[in-house]
Amino acid sequence: MIIEGNQTEIEAMKEFHKGNRQRGLELQEKFAAEFREEYKEKDHCPCKKACRYHGNCKECVAIHRAHQEHVPNCMRTMINAKIKALSELTEHTIADEIEAPREVLRKEFQ
Ligand code: SF4
Repeated sequence: MIIEGNQTEIEAMKEFHKGNRQRGLELQEKFAAEFREEYKEKDHCPCKKACRYHGNCKECVAIHRAHQEHVPNCMRTMINAKIKALSELTEHTIADEIEAPREVLRKEFQ
């Protein structure tokens, strides 16, 4: 089961946008039920950082809400895709003005 770009969730959102809230909720629960089963034991968190809150979404999200600097790492791919589209407006010249900070990763990703 893939999480990012999951087809069931994409279909759920289409139903919500069409105003079919009940169908949207049903599809959303289908996704959540599959997620619950698939990730009962295995790691669902794509974050590579060396972090004691890895996979603990409740505390991870609370920490990011508290410091207000940036979002949890699992949101990066989605948000970067949207920023990339906006960045085309200036022919990606923002890239000349920014540098990603060094991150402390878990051993398997170093
Ligand atoms: S919210 Fe935090 S702990 Fe949960 S998947 Fe995203 S990065 Fe991992």
